[in-house]
Amino acid sequence: MTRMKTTASQALFERAKDVLVEGVSSASRGPVNYDPYPPYMRRGRGARLWDVDGNEYIDWMLSFGALPLGHAHPLIVEVVREEVANGTHFATALEVEVEVAERIVGLLPHAEKIRFANTGTEACMAAVRLARGLTGRRKVIKFEGHYHGWYDALLVTTNPQLPTTLGHPNDPVRVPDSSGLTPGSWEDTVVVPWNDVGLLERAMETHGREAACVVTEGVIANMGVIPPRPGYLQRVQELCRDYGALFYLDETVTGFRLAPGGCAELFGLTPDITTYGKALGQGFPIAAIAGPAAVMDGLEWGKVLHYGSHNAPRLGLYAAKTMLEEMLRDDRRGFRELAALGERMAARLRDVLGASNRHPAVVQNVGSMFQIYFTEAQEIATFRDFCALVDRGKFRALANRLLRHGVYMSPSNTLHSLSCTAHSEADIEATANAVGAALDEMR
Ligand code: PLP
Repeated sequence: MTRMKTTASQALFERAKDVLVEGVSSASRGPVNYDPYPPYMRRGRGARLWDVDGNEYIDWMLSFGALPLGHAHPLIVEVVREEVANGTHFATALEVEVEVAERIVGLLPHAEKIRFANTGTEACMAAVRLARGLTGRRKVIKFEGHYHGWYDALLVTTNPQLPTTLGHPNDPVRVPDSSGLTPGSWEDTVVVPWNDVGLLERAMETHGREAACVVTEGVIANMGVIPPRPGYLQRVQELCRDYGALFYLDETVTGFRLAPGGCAELFGLTPDITTYGKALGQGFPIAAIAGPAAVMDGLEWGKVLHYGSHNAPRLGLYAAKTMLEEMLRDDRRGFRELAALGERMAARLRDVLGASNRHPAVVQNVGSMFQIYFTEAQEIATFRDFCALVDRGKFRALANRLLRHGVYMSPSNTLHSLSCTAHSEADIEATANAVGAALDEMR
């Protein structure tokens, strides 16, 4: 394996283990994925990261998708530098809050009003409460393998499982993904396999009239990258309308990334509630819940309560405003570039993996989001495929080797890689070469 000096990271990890749980602040950043310790990052610029030992990486992880413009984009640095000097956070009404809300409403035909929060998890939590409060119904229908943050009611069947534990698709075994969840917190959560119209119709017949909402990712972004079958999401929307449940599209990953209007735009959907995070803040924690006024006004005066000292963080709003201006410039050039770079990287990965016939794999992508699955299958179309057919350990081994070749992809196969506007053709070629070399080492 290529040698790389990581002694400073190693020393930090030794210290970190004593004072931070698992040595990190979120499990996926730690030894569960990184073998034997994570690189500690010090600096980022464009599509590059540098660790504390001075090693340089082409970054395809990009803060789990939070950086459509890459690291330290000059316009973001400028606006934040200027605005931080005027104060970090006021927790008051803000002009920039109105400006960003107007901009977003202009981009989303299905949304008339916005409420800003901080993280995807909070937005999802508020959205479910809003759906329940408005409809007076208790049940929430979610899909196997869809992750909507770590809120109790949605933390069911979000992790890969042994296929034998999942039960029959007509009546999936629900798997709460954490200790500490009381049965009450998820007793009203119905879990259905995704990408199968018949199974959803069946579930709606049983639960649809009691369902406050059906919540779905537009593209599964938490089992790699799994796109919807043609017409599937339209059918989810129709079934919601038929049964009076709200159609809740969680765009935390896909919003302001796959298109200005996210999956709603890409697939021609009119959701009742959408949630955003990640890309919106260009690295700052800011999230949003959006929908028609008739839905969003349910939050008015705390009828359905959503509070927060840090809601609508002003630096995040300036970053969001600048990111949107930059991405939309020249007829949405940023969004087009992002998608083209992702398509190109996915195509090159297909070439490289195809050429190394010792490692059967498929590469799946939707625009800028892509993932490698080591599998004999032609396609990974469902969570159950992912659980049964994908060699996740092999991907983890590849991604850890790639780090030593200066390429940063999250070693968790459940996550995905992403392009940003700062990636270049040279980065794509260097990454393809690194993958080829790492695969050779893995023989
Ligand atoms: N929803 C989806 C689809 C996500 O992928 C995530 C995070 O990965 C969340 C919600 C939660 O967002 P956050 O990590 O900002 O709490």
